[in-house]
Amino acid sequence: MMHRFYCPHPDSGRLDPSESHHARSVLRVKAGDRCTVFDGRGKELQAEVTEVGKHQLCFSVVSSHQSKPLPFSIHLVQALTKGRSWSLILEKSTELGVSSISPVLSDRSVTRIGAEDTVKHEKWRQEIITACKQSGRNYLPRLSPVTRIEKLTDPSLTQYTPKFIASLQPDALPLKLALERVMESELQQDITIAVGPEGDFSPAELGQFRAMGYQPVSLGPNVLRAETAAIYLCAVLFYEMQHRFA
Ligand code: SAH
Repeated sequence: MMHRFYCPHPDSGRLDPSESHHARSVLRVKAGDRCTVFDGRGKELQAEVTEVGKHQLCFSVVSSHQSKPLPFSIHLVQALTKGRSWSLILEKSTELGVSSISPVLSDRSVTRIGAEDTVKHEKWRQEIITACKQSGRNYLPRLSPVTRIEKLTDPSLTQYTPKFIASLQPDALPLKLALERVMESELQQDITIAVGPEGDFSPAELGQFRAMGYQPVSLGPNVLRAETAAIYLCAVLFYEMQHRFA
């Protein structure tokens, strides 16, 4: 596969220092090589490398096209989890086509992080970019700042959209049933899913989500790790929505 590079401003004709460094030192890209460049907003260019400097790689555009966004949006509201699990969630949900990821703080999250931690935010953004490079996605999912549940706003832009929360409570609706109900109603293009942390949401937090209109759904009899629950939900919804909007 041709190397793919992320470049938010492709008109500049050069990659930023970290992408340039990666291309030169890790991928051994040379002048004359062909590569693909995407801007994260749907634009994808075929490019030819013209110069490989120490801090910047320059390219000229061979051809360019604007790819269509997905005709549906899956929004993931995810309670923070610790390192490896969190990275998996970012990577896999990006591969599985989510439009946005909203990290939320939960009482039982093992990870403690301030909403203003820009270093973490940038690291997470890079993990998302890597997943977009690998999976051929030309649209970066939106990564919201870390928020508390009570400050959470509806991640979808439309008025009413179905919202599910993965829940181990006995009254949670089986996912299949919950989805059938949603799919029967009008053509829904947006869907929001919330998943808890390692220690689960507290009953009070679950109450907050319910008050915001989240329907508790069950993913079956086994207790899944948070990352498994997130990946499961993203995969099922990606499958369903593609089928629906094919
Ligand atoms: N430590 C808790 C489990 C937390 S699982 C315990 O032992 O009870 C982490 C998150 O994954 C939960 O908050 C929930 O959102 C989701 N989850 C895991 N298994 C699930 C299932 N079978 N059905 C629905 N949600 C599930």
